[in-house]
Amino acid sequence: MRTPLFTALFLLAATAPAQQLPSVKEQAKRYVDTLASPAMFGRGYVGSGDSLAAEWIAKQFDRIGLEKLNGTRFEPFSFPVNAFPDSVALSVDGKQLTPGVDYLVDPASGSSAGSFDLVHLTLQDLLSPERKAMTLGVVMGHAAVLHFPPTSNPDTLALYAALQNELSRYAPVIREGGEKLTWSVAGAPVRNAVLEVRKGVLTDSSRTADIRVVNRFTPRHEARNVWGVAKGKGKDWLLVTAHYDHLGMMGQALFPGANDNASGVAMLLSLAEHFKKNRPKLNILFVAFAGEEAGLKGSEWFVVDRPMDMARIKLVLNLDLNGTGEEGITVVNATEQKAVYDKLVAINTKTQDLPQVKARGAACNSDHCPFVQKGIPAIFIYTMGGVSFYHDVNDRAETLPLTKFDGLYRTLVALIRGMK
Ligand SMILES: [Zn+2]
Repeated sequence: MRTPLFTALFLLAATAPAQQLPSVKEQAKRYVDTLASPAMFGRGYVGSGDSLAAEWIAKQFDRIGLEKLNGTRFEPFSFPVNAFPDSVALSVDGKQLTPGVDYLVDPASGSSAGSFDLVHLTLQDLLSPERKAMTLGVVMGHAAVLHFPPTSNPDTLALYAALQNELSRYAPVIREGGEKLTWSVAGAPVRNAVLEVRKGVLTDSSRTADIRVVNRFTPRHEARNVWGVAKGKGKDWLLVTAHYDHLGMMGQALFPGANDNASGVAMLLSLAEHFKKNRPKLNILFVAFAGEEAGLKGSEWFVVDRPMDMARIKLVLNLDLNGTGEEGITVVNATEQKAVYDKLVAINTKTQDLPQVKARGAACNSDHCPFVQKGIPAIFIYTMGGVSFYHDVNDRAETLPLTKFDGLYRTLVALIRGMK
């Protein structure tokens, strides 16, 4: 009975359509597990986390067999960064709070240590110059608690930030935040500690705070983009990009960055493996960017550094937040790159791999943006639905579903395969 079985299998294999690709999800999960593990320190500015991630990605590029660009794997550059390598502490009225859960240290925080009486302030205490001068006098030697009404108005937010910065020259500042704590990275610190507490953690009657925050400002943090080339057949290029940096650690609190953006790096590595084995028409440069969370630093440097003939770049395909997909994908800059977007929709209409391929206009929200600003065609793809942890301690590998990872992978392989 063996022969017929083998014959059947052979026939199946021989007639299988070319788009039947093996699942890459399990391997992607291992990539995400590694990149989001505590050993990578959140791929930021504590424990050389971003540098360790760069080394690991370079090793993957070597293993896959990608070539170097201009004889090198790395594109070095530097930028200023404020970090918190030492453990942080905040207690209110003797109750110790949990970093990353109850509070955040503002990315631009300076250093403060000690026990402080709390001075509760409303917007009215700071608006007129006379009232503000009085308030600053009162705050000196204590800690200011800001009870500002919630807003999403950019002008009002800018006013809040300006008042907070001014106060932080005189005293530590504790800001009352919302239910969701969202961290980021800053490049220029203020003088005293600035903290954001989750809504409900502080009340008007809270009396004292014990604060310990030590910042470390590095004016020239050395970072590296990582390069790998899969040779095509002509002179034109496709760039597949994903940032590997995340927020790092806030004292003892780890920000793993599984969805943002270990998932995009996992997709980049999966595509690299495919197109190393299946020669593409376009040359593909895979770029793992550093410094995205610090303000698109890696991609900004790439378009200044110009390591290649930029006029030969047919498209930049930027991958960020690729770890869910229950509600499909969004294509940023789709309205400007209509032909590419239409192609993605056409592929998906046939395969039904993704529940939705949604178009979005231009937005400077990831590493495609510096290319767009230089007139280089670029899109940015993120997945929608599923878990929505973002820039917090819960963006972990264990809870990242990778729901439509294979579907997006097949879609991107088909898109790239069709490009010439
Ligand atoms: Zn990101």
